Order: sequence, then structure tokens, then C-alpha cells
Amino acid sequence: MTNNALSELRDQLRAFAVEREWDKFHNPKNLAMALAGEAGELVAEFQWLSEEEAQGLSSEQLARVKAEASDVLLYLIRLADKLNFDLLDAAAEKLAQNRMKYPADLVRGSARKYSEY
Ligand SMILES: [Mg+2]
Repeated sequence: MTNNALSELRDQLRAFAVEREWDKFHNPKNLAMALAGEAGELVAEFQWLSEEEAQGLSSEQLARVKAEASDVLLYLIRLADKLNFDLLDAAAEKLAQNRMKYPADLVRGSARKYSEY
């Protein structure tokens, strides 16, 4: 992980778990499930809002969205750490794959899935 901010967060998460003796709970399955739960909490913040309301969140709503988005990121960092892969490298690789899968000239302005063109 070459990004200092991300590797610092990874190290802080390691310490956080060790200090609380929670490392024993942090297997990849549990972390993936916790991540999905936090993603659900993030989605719940937008549930039943109109598009307009979702784009004009109150400061209280935005604070809750920031907290849930952070929970998702922290579990994702922890999961990548436990599976010993570099999250930034993996994300860069996936973005490169997406560029190949969705050539801009073919998909511009369209929301179709890659299998539909
Ligand atoms: Mg949460």
C-alpha cells in the first residue's frame, strides 16, 4: 500500500483491534459481513428520499452519511489487510479492467451493462 494515509489507517485499525482483543473476530468472512452491514446502513440513509432530497442533505444527514461511509472504508481496509492484498493496487487494476470493458467511445451516455453491446 503506497498511499500513506491508507497505510496509516490500516495500522491504526490493527492497533484498535489488538487493544480490544478483537483481532480474533476479524476473519475475512466476519469482516465481509460487517462491511455489507455498514453498506446497508449507508444505503438506509438514502432510503425513501427523493433524488432531490438525496442531493440536498441536511448537515445532520450528511454527518450520518459520512459516518457510515467511513465504516465501509474502515472494514474494507481491514478486509484487504487480513487477506494480504494491496487495496490501492487492486482498485487501480480494476479501474483499468473497467476501462477495457467499457470503452468510452462505445458506451458514452449509456447506462447499459457491458454484456448488452
Ligand atoms: Mg455504521
